[in-house]
Amino acid sequence: MLAEYTRACLNLELSVRQLAQFEVLGDMLLDWNQRMNLTSITAPEDIVVKHFLDSLTLVKVVPQFDRLRLIDVGTGAGFPGLALAIAFPALNVTLLDSTAKKLRFIQSVGEELQLKNVRTIHVRAEDAGRDKSHRASYDIAVARAVARLPILMEYLLPLAKPEGQVIAMQGMTAYDDANSAAKAIDALGGELFTIEEVLLPTLDNPRYLIVIDKIKKTPRQYPRQPGTPTRDPIQ
Ligand code: SAM
Repeated sequence: MLAEYTRACLNLELSVRQLAQFEVLGDMLLDWNQRMNLTSITAPEDIVVKHFLDSLTLVKVVPQFDRLRLIDVGTGAGFPGLALAIAFPALNVTLLDSTAKKLRFIQSVGEELQLKNVRTIHVRAEDAGRDKSHRASYDIAVARAVARLPILMEYLLPLAKPEGQVIAMQGMTAYDDANSAAKAIDALGGELFTIEEVLLPTLDNPRYLIVIDKIKKTPRQYPRQPGTPTRDPIQ
Protein backbone atom coordinates (compact mmCIF):
# COMPACT_ATOMS: atom_id res chain seq x y z
CA MET A 1 0.00 0.00 0.00
CA LEU A 2 2.79 2.48 0.87
CA ALA A 3 4.45 1.91 -2.52
CA GLU A 4 1.24 2.76 -4.42
CA TYR A 5 0.56 5.80 -2.26
CA THR A 6 4.04 7.32 -2.58
CA ARG A 7 4.00 6.71 -6.34
CA ALA A 8 0.52 8.17 -6.87
CA CYS A 9 0.61 11.08 -4.41
CA LEU A 10 4.27 12.05 -4.35
CA ASN A 11 5.75 10.64 -7.55
CA LEU A 12 8.24 8.87 -5.27
CA GLU A 13 9.44 5.34 -6.00
CA LEU A 14 10.58 3.36 -2.94
CA SER A 15 12.85 0.33 -3.37
CA VAL A 16 12.00 -3.15 -2.12
CA ARG A 17 14.56 -2.62 0.68
CA GLN A 18 13.01 0.68 1.72
CA LEU A 19 9.52 -0.80 1.75
CA ALA A 20 10.79 -3.65 3.94
CA GLN A 21 12.40 -1.07 6.26
CA PHE A 22 9.08 0.78 6.61
CA GLU A 23 7.40 -2.52 7.44
CA VAL A 24 9.91 -3.20 10.22
CA LEU A 25 9.48 0.38 11.50
CA GLY A 26 5.69 -0.14 11.68
CA ASP A 27 6.10 -3.45 13.52
CA MET A 28 8.59 -1.97 16.00
CA LEU A 29 6.37 1.06 16.60
CA LEU A 30 3.43 -1.16 17.54
CA ASP A 31 5.61 -3.45 19.65
CA TRP A 32 7.28 -0.64 21.66
CA ASN A 33 3.97 1.21 21.90
CA GLN A 34 2.69 -1.56 24.17
CA ARG A 35 5.34 -0.59 26.72
CA MET A 36 5.58 3.18 26.26
CA ASN A 37 3.41 5.93 24.89
CA LEU A 38 4.87 6.53 21.43
CA THR A 39 1.79 7.10 19.30
CA SER A 40 -1.99 7.10 19.47
CA ILE A 41 -2.11 6.01 15.83
CA THR A 42 -2.15 2.22 15.84
CA ALA A 43 -4.25 0.94 12.92
CA PRO A 44 -1.81 -0.31 10.24
CA GLU A 45 -3.50 1.75 7.46
CA ASP A 46 -3.30 4.86 9.65
CA ILE A 47 0.38 4.29 10.40
CA VAL A 48 1.06 4.13 6.66
CA VAL A 49 -0.91 7.28 5.82
CA LYS A 50 -0.64 9.49 8.93
CA HIS A 51 2.96 8.68 9.86
CA PHE A 52 4.86 7.36 6.81
CA LEU A 53 3.14 9.06 3.87
CA ASP A 54 2.53 12.31 5.75
CA SER A 55 6.23 12.49 6.66
CA LEU A 56 7.27 11.94 3.05
CA THR A 57 5.09 14.81 1.77
CA LEU A 58 8.10 17.06 2.30
CA VAL A 59 9.21 15.97 -1.18
CA LYS A 60 6.53 18.35 -2.45
CA VAL A 61 8.54 21.36 -1.31
CA VAL A 62 12.14 20.07 -1.28
CA PRO A 63 13.33 19.39 -4.86
CA GLN A 64 16.18 17.12 -3.77
CA PHE A 65 17.35 15.85 -0.39
CA ASP A 66 20.77 14.43 -1.27
CA ARG A 67 23.60 15.64 0.98
CA LEU A 68 21.37 18.12 2.80
CA ARG A 69 21.43 18.36 6.61
CA LEU A 70 17.94 18.17 8.10
CA ILE A 71 16.90 18.50 11.74
CA ASP A 72 13.52 17.25 12.97
CA VAL A 73 12.65 19.14 16.17
CA GLY A 74 10.34 17.31 18.59
CA THR A 75 10.59 14.16 16.51
CA GLY A 76 8.77 11.94 19.05
CA ALA A 77 8.78 8.44 17.59
CA GLY A 78 10.64 9.76 14.53
CA PHE A 79 8.14 11.62 12.38
CA PRO A 80 8.83 13.08 9.94
CA GLY A 81 12.64 12.64 10.23
CA LEU A 82 13.00 8.88 10.55
CA ALA A 83 10.71 8.23 7.59
CA LEU A 84 12.69 10.73 5.50
CA ALA A 85 15.96 9.04 6.50
CA ILE A 86 14.66 5.70 5.19
CA ALA A 87 13.39 7.19 1.93
CA PHE A 88 16.50 9.34 1.31
CA PRO A 89 19.71 7.53 2.36
CA ALA A 90 21.88 10.46 1.21
CA LEU A 91 20.00 12.89 3.49
CA ASN A 92 21.78 13.57 6.77
CA VAL A 93 19.12 13.52 9.51
CA THR A 94 19.30 14.77 13.11
CA LEU A 95 16.35 13.81 15.31
CA LEU A 96 15.92 16.07 18.35
CA ASP A 97 13.64 15.53 21.33
CA SER A 98 13.61 16.40 25.01
CA THR A 99 12.20 12.95 25.90
CA ALA A 100 14.98 10.37 26.11
CA LYS A 101 12.81 7.24 25.96
CA LYS A 102 11.43 8.19 22.54
CA LEU A 103 14.97 8.61 21.27
CA ARG A 104 15.84 5.13 22.57
CA PHE A 105 13.12 3.77 20.30
CA ILE A 106 14.60 5.63 17.34
CA GLN A 107 18.12 4.38 18.15
CA SER A 108 16.83 0.84 18.27
CA VAL A 109 15.13 1.25 14.88
CA GLY A 110 18.31 2.80 13.48
CA GLU A 111 20.35 -0.22 14.58
CA GLU A 112 17.82 -2.74 13.33
CA LEU A 113 17.56 -1.05 9.92
CA GLN A 114 21.28 -0.20 9.78
CA LEU A 115 20.53 3.44 9.04
CA LYS A 116 23.82 5.30 8.68
CA ASN A 117 22.29 8.72 8.07
CA VAL A 118 20.51 9.19 11.41
CA ARG A 119 21.63 10.61 14.76
CA THR A 120 19.55 11.52 17.80
CA ILE A 121 20.10 14.41 20.19
CA HIS A 122 18.49 14.61 23.60
CA VAL A 123 18.12 18.32 24.23
CA ARG A 124 15.51 21.07 24.38
CA ALA A 125 15.10 22.93 21.12
CA GLU A 126 15.83 26.22 22.89
CA ASP A 127 19.20 24.91 24.12
CA ALA A 128 20.13 23.42 20.73
CA GLY A 129 19.46 26.79 19.10
CA ARG A 130 22.06 28.44 21.36
CA ASP A 131 24.64 25.68 20.97
CA LYS A 132 27.33 26.44 18.37
CA SER A 133 27.32 22.88 17.06
CA HIS A 134 23.64 23.18 16.06
CA ARG A 135 22.90 26.88 15.61
CA ALA A 136 22.68 27.92 11.93
CA SER A 137 23.84 24.42 10.96
CA TYR A 138 20.97 22.85 9.03
CA ASP A 139 19.70 23.21 5.47
CA ILE A 140 16.22 22.28 6.64
CA ALA A 141 14.66 22.51 10.11
CA VAL A 142 11.28 20.77 10.27
CA ALA A 143 8.67 19.95 12.88
CA ARG A 144 5.24 18.35 13.14
CA ALA A 145 2.82 18.72 16.06
CA VAL A 146 5.27 20.31 18.49
CA ALA A 147 4.06 23.83 19.37
CA ARG A 148 2.00 26.76 18.08
CA LEU A 149 3.68 28.43 15.12
CA PRO A 150 5.07 31.58 16.84
CA ILE A 151 6.74 29.31 19.43
CA LEU A 152 7.86 26.82 16.82
CA MET A 153 9.57 29.59 14.86
CA GLU A 154 11.78 30.31 17.86
CA TYR A 155 12.71 26.61 17.99
CA LEU A 156 13.37 26.18 14.26
CA LEU A 157 14.71 29.40 12.71
CA PRO A 158 17.88 29.62 14.89
CA LEU A 159 18.83 26.10 13.71
CA ALA A 160 18.52 26.84 9.98
CA LYS A 161 21.53 28.05 7.99
CA PRO A 162 21.26 31.40 6.26
CA GLU A 163 19.63 30.47 2.92
CA GLY A 164 18.26 27.34 4.55
CA GLN A 165 14.57 26.66 5.10
CA VAL A 166 12.16 25.95 7.90
CA ILE A 167 9.15 23.73 7.26
CA ALA A 168 6.20 23.51 9.65
CA MET A 169 3.73 20.68 9.00
CA GLN A 170 0.35 22.10 9.92
CA GLY A 171 -3.35 21.27 9.82
CA MET A 172 -6.43 23.14 8.65
CA THR A 173 -5.54 26.40 10.42
CA ALA A 174 -2.29 26.85 8.49
CA TYR A 175 -3.13 30.25 6.96
CA ASP A 176 -4.23 31.69 10.31
CA ASP A 177 -1.17 30.10 11.93
CA ALA A 178 1.11 31.80 9.40
CA ASN A 179 -0.55 35.16 10.11
CA SER A 180 -0.17 34.70 13.85
CA ALA A 181 3.53 33.90 13.39
CA ALA A 182 4.33 36.79 11.01
CA LYS A 183 6.05 38.88 13.68
CA ALA A 184 8.08 35.92 15.00
CA ILE A 185 9.16 34.91 11.49
CA ASP A 186 10.41 38.42 10.80
CA ALA A 187 12.12 38.87 14.20
CA LEU A 188 13.97 35.55 13.85
CA GLY A 189 15.33 36.20 10.33
CA GLY A 190 12.74 34.36 8.24
CA GLU A 191 10.42 35.16 5.36
CA LEU A 192 7.31 33.20 4.41
CA PHE A 193 8.02 31.48 1.08
CA THR A 194 4.91 29.39 0.45
CA ILE A 195 2.11 27.35 1.97
CA GLU A 196 1.63 24.06 0.12
CA GLU A 197 -1.63 22.13 0.47
CA VAL A 198 -1.23 18.36 0.69
CA LEU A 199 -4.04 15.86 0.16
CA LEU A 200 -3.58 12.36 1.51
CA PRO A 201 -5.59 9.24 0.62
CA THR A 202 -8.32 8.21 3.12
CA LEU A 203 -8.14 11.58 4.93
CA ASP A 204 -10.88 14.21 4.51
CA ASN A 205 -8.94 17.26 5.56
CA PRO A 206 -5.90 18.61 3.71
CA ARG A 207 -2.59 19.16 5.46
CA TYR A 208 -0.28 22.08 4.84
CA LEU A 209 3.44 22.63 4.62
CA ILE A 210 4.41 26.13 5.66
CA VAL A 211 7.80 26.88 4.12
CA ILE A 212 9.89 29.75 5.46
CA ASP A 213 13.16 30.94 3.96
CA LYS A 214 15.93 31.95 6.33
CA ILE A 215 16.99 35.28 4.86
CA LYS A 216 19.00 36.78 7.74
CA LYS A 217 20.95 35.60 10.78
CA THR A 218 18.77 35.05 13.83
CA PRO A 219 19.53 37.81 16.37
CA ARG A 220 21.70 36.66 19.27
CA GLN A 221 18.98 36.99 21.90
CA TYR A 222 17.02 34.12 20.30
CA PRO A 223 16.13 31.47 21.19
CA ARG A 224 15.39 32.57 24.74
CA GLN A 225 15.69 30.30 27.80
CA PRO A 226 13.81 26.95 27.76
CA GLY A 227 10.14 27.57 28.46
CA THR A 228 10.21 31.31 27.65
CA PRO A 229 8.99 30.92 24.03
CA THR A 230 5.94 29.03 25.35
CA ARG A 231 5.22 31.47 28.19
CA ASP A 232 5.84 34.58 26.15
CA PRO A 233 5.69 33.87 22.39
CA ILE A 234 6.90 36.56 19.97
CA GLN A 235 3.67 38.05 18.60
N1 SAM B 1 6.82 15.09 15.62
C1 SAM B 1 6.23 13.87 16.16
C2 SAM B 1 4.97 13.50 15.41
O1 SAM B 1 4.40 14.35 14.72
O2 SAM B 1 4.54 12.33 15.51
C3 SAM B 1 5.98 13.97 17.67
C4 SAM B 1 4.97 14.97 18.09
S1 SAM B 1 4.73 14.99 19.86
C5 SAM B 1 3.08 15.53 19.96
C6 SAM B 1 5.69 16.40 20.36
C7 SAM B 1 7.13 16.08 20.70
O3 SAM B 1 7.85 17.30 20.81
C8 SAM B 1 7.28 15.32 22.00
O4 SAM B 1 8.04 14.15 21.78
C9 SAM B 1 8.01 16.30 22.92
O5 SAM B 1 8.92 15.66 23.80
C10 SAM B 1 8.74 17.19 21.91
N2 SAM B 1 9.00 18.58 22.36
C11 SAM B 1 8.10 19.50 22.74
N3 SAM B 1 8.71 20.65 23.08
C12 SAM B 1 10.05 20.45 22.91
C13 SAM B 1 11.21 21.28 23.10
N4 SAM B 1 11.11 22.54 23.53
N5 SAM B 1 12.41 20.74 22.82
C14 SAM B 1 12.53 19.46 22.40
N6 SAM B 1 11.47 18.63 22.20
C15 SAM B 1 10.23 19.12 22.46
